[in-house]
Amino acid sequence: MKILVAVKRVVDANVKVGAKSDGTGIDVANLKFSMNPFDEIAVEEAVRLKEAGVATEVIAVSAGVAQAQETLRTALAIGADRAILIESNAEMQPLAVAKLLKALVDKEQAALVILGKQAIDDDSNQTGQMLAALANLPQATFASKVIVADGKATVTREVDGGSETLSLMLPAVVTVDLRLNEPRYVTLPNIMKAKKKPLETLKPDNLGVNVAPRLKTLKVAEPPKRSAGVKVQEVKTLVEKLRTEAKVL
Ligand code: AMP
Repeated sequence: MKILVAVKRVVDANVKVGAKSDGTGIDVANLKFSMNPFDEIAVEEAVRLKEAGVATEVIAVSAGVAQAQETLRTALAIGADRAILIESNAEMQPLAVAKLLKALVDKEQAALVILGKQAIDDDSNQTGQMLAALANLPQATFASKVIVADGKATVTREVDGGSETLSLMLPAVVTVDLRLNEPRYVTLPNIMKAKKKPLETLKPDNLGVNVAPRLKTLKVAEPPKRSAGVKVQEVKTLVEKLRTEAKVL
């Protein structure tokens, strides 16, 4: 059983980003990039399924610029067997990524596709759902537990105020949430080993997919700056200010 795992190169979660002065987008010049944190969890889960003897091969896939190779090497260091970069300088929107992944699911005959629940740069939370629709596959989103056996995936997912457990026939699409697992620490020997693992590069055209953006960003703006606080001497003044100035009482 093959597992495809989608990994996106995003601005590192610890970096504070800002809007470009002309409001056309986020300024990412000279920033540190890393694997989307939810995708690390997705790779970890796929590798655990391989280690448990459930999966035979884990294939990491990324769509984007040439530097996404580094993200794929990280996936290989966690334990993926091989990687595919679908290289393009175009802005990769969820529908385009979903179409590329659908083409790869068909090509590789993958039984399970694991994605992050969302990419922390665009916060779209769309790609897995779109892939499931395009490929006509069952899906379970926000997984906090995944068990694969007998041609089925049993997925516990986080829902408002509790959890829900679904049984899906394979092939299927699963998107993962934060509590599914804790990704392993990537060791130096595994980073070295990952350098020798196969990394194939394709272009969107090779998969017959047009990745031209379908959405246009009109404006990106930072939240208004918070004004400085004031110290008050007594509770009476605080209550007064909350009532008359902040108008929250
Ligand atoms: P999104 O729908 O953009 O919030 O992304 C959800 C998930 O889709 C991510 O966590 C990744 O697993 C996958 N994904 C999104 N964009 C890409 C990309 N360019 N390359 C590979 N995987 C992606």
